[in-house]
Amino acid sequence: MSTSSIWSRFRPRPRNTLFLGIHIAAPIVAWMAGFSWFGVLLALVVYYVRVFGITAGYHRYFSHRSYKMGRVTQFLMAFLAQTACQGGVLWWAAHHRQHHRYSDLPGDVHSPKLDGFWYAHMGWMLVEETDTTDIERVKDFAKFPEILWLEKYAIVPPLLLAIALYATWGLTGLGWGFGVSTVALWHGTFCVNSLAHVMGRRVYETTDTSRNSALISTFTMGEGWHNNHHHYQRSAAQGWRWYEFDPTYWILKVMQFVGLASGVSRPPRHVIENTIARVSERAKELREGLAQRAESLAAAVQSARGSAPEERVRQLLQSAEELRTEMLALRDEKLAHMAERVDALVHELEARMLGETSGV
Ligand SMILES: [Zn+2]
Ligand SMILES: [Zn+2]
Repeated sequence: MSTSSIWSRFRPRPRNTLFLGIHIAAPIVAWMAGFSWFGVLLALVVYYVRVFGITAGYHRYFSHRSYKMGRVTQFLMAFLAQTACQGGVLWWAAHHRQHHRYSDLPGDVHSPKLDGFWYAHMGWMLVEETDTTDIERVKDFAKFPEILWLEKYAIVPPLLLAIALYATWGLTGLGWGFGVSTVALWHGTFCVNSLAHVMGRRVYETTDTSRNSALISTFTMGEGWHNNHHHYQRSAAQGWRWYEFDPTYWILKVMQFVGLASGVSRPPRHVIENTIARVSERAKELREGLAQRAESLAAAVQSARGSAPEERVRQLLQSAEELRTEMLALRDEKLAHMAERVDALVHELEARMLGETSGV
């Protein structure tokens, strides 16, 4: 799909209007309230509490089931996440599961590689195609009536939050605590879909373009370790090394400690260690080993010239064929080149078996 044809699909709809409306209203109300450090602090607190709802709730729990919660905690987590104004819990999880299913392939709802940065950042959720929720994808949670209720009245949690903030702190609560915080929260979390597939380091060889970024992790509470996450999605932890800070995971561990969550997991050691550097090191060793075998095979064929018994030629042919298969199976360019040489040996030996060459 070309980028221009994507943008031509935008039509004014309630979701777009609300999205745009809050972008315009938030700075106006914040300006009316006036600048105060309290307002900034309030915006930050409401921001991070809701980031936790998105990362621990929408993402790690409802999309990936990377840990367990009781029914009441599950409902409260969904409610908290929904205050972030990012659609209903089932809508979010269904689209996220689709992202992982097709990651950067046709069918991915938000791929910067396929549809451009801004479409992956926010365009994808403003077009009509993504309005509906494929309930089949989230059957596991659609069976709870209270979750279905939340999904149906997705606007209730953010509305209650806005009212509560206004009732408590007036315009500062509404402008800074809700408005500014919500706009920042949108773009902060959307960066995981856009920026985390563009900026950062690739540690694992995944089939998509996901990357690890410490910067993105600071404002998403650990979601910036996106390459780790695409490598192994079932883990509740996304930061796996001591320096990969992942506050969402730490809070989940505390929740587990006080009995609000269980099965808060990290990936097995071999998954963590299977990095691109390790894989390429292993591939190098493997390639060297195979090259050595090819050398000694060539020498053996050379020395078998002349008077080798048929049995010996048959043996050599078998090892040459095995070697060729192993080399080709690795799909390595250098090995493919070597495999051609082994192929020539196979042909030579086959010819000898048939007695077509003289000297055997
Ligand atoms: Zn995910
Ligand atoms: Zn991704």
